[in-house]
Formats: sequence, structure tokens, C-alpha cells
Amino acid sequence: MRDNSYKSIRNGAIASLIAGIILLIVPTLREMTVAFLSWIWSGIVWLWEALVSSYSISGWLLIIIAVLALMSLSRIFLSFKKGTEINSYETYIEDFLFGTKWRWRWGINEIINLWCFCPRCDAELVYDDSSCRRFSYESETKFICENCSRTVVTSIPGGNKDYALSAVGREIRRRIRTNEINKS
Ligand SMILES: [Zn+2]
Repeated sequence: MRDNSYKSIRNGAIASLIAGIILLIVPTLREMTVAFLSWIWSGIVWLWEALVSSYSISGWLLIIIAVLALMSLSRIFLSFKKGTEINSYETYIEDFLFGTKWRWRWGINEIINLWCFCPRCDAELVYDDSSCRRFSYESETKFICENCSRTVVTSIPGGNKDYALSAVGREIRRRIRTNEINKS
């Protein structure tokens, strides 16, 4: 009998302790739940506003931005591809054309410092396009080696020095296009 009453007193004490703890915790839990739910709700509201109120504008903007981004990406890809193609012929800097040796360098997509050299002594040739300045049936530019007793090494018909240089440039570009530079 004493044991039973002791047990009931102990149980009652434990029960009231648990109840007290629950009563202490519940308001805090409720506050936390309310704060959490309101945070979630504000997130939902923000998302809803973003989707509904400005979707028609931001959606189109997104599409335009995506298209522009794709265009610039493809342009970058193409220019990169083109750049590697240029590199493949950038090592092509001399050849035997129009009866003599020509050397040049590559600028941005263009031939620069193009000039001819003697095939025998490698001296720089001098030009004579005086035939273009007087009335003559056939205008030409002669390229002469001063080092080899002023021998006319080659002669390019059709015009003055500028014409001859542009003809050589055209021939260089033709050989690149037809891939002749890699065949020889
Ligand atoms: Zn020479």
C-alpha cells in the first residue's frame, strides 16, 4: 500500500514536471512555427510576384538575352576556328613565284613586307618599272639583282611595282586557298 502511494506520488510529480516543461516550450515552439511559416509564405509571395507581375517582360528579356548569348558564343567559336585556320598558313612566309624568291610576313589577315630576292645570291632585288611611265605597248616591272652584275632576274608584265606586288599577293592567296602550300 505504501509502495503504491509512493509510486502514484512519483508519477504525479513526473507528469506535472513534463506538463510544466511542455507549457514552457509550447509558446516558444508556436513562435518559431509562426516565424518559419511566415518566412516560407513571404518566399512564396515573392516567387508568385516575380512569376506573375513581371513574367511577361522578364520572360521575353530572358529569351532575347539567351538568343544574344548564343549568337555571341557562336561568333566566338567561329572566330576561334578561323584563328586556328590562319595559324595553319602563318608559317608560309616564302615561295618561288614569278621566276624568283619572295618573302613576306603576316599581319592581321594580310601579307606585309612582301619583297623578292635573288635565287642565286639571295640579295634584295631592285625594281625598274620605267616602262609604265612612258607610252609603250607592254608595261612591265623588272626585278634586277645588283649583286649579279645587274642581271634582270624576273619581269612581271601588266603594270608598275605596286601592280607586280599585288599580283604576287594574289598568287600567294591563291596557293593558300587551293592548299598548294601543303602539297609541295
Ligand atoms: Zn644575285
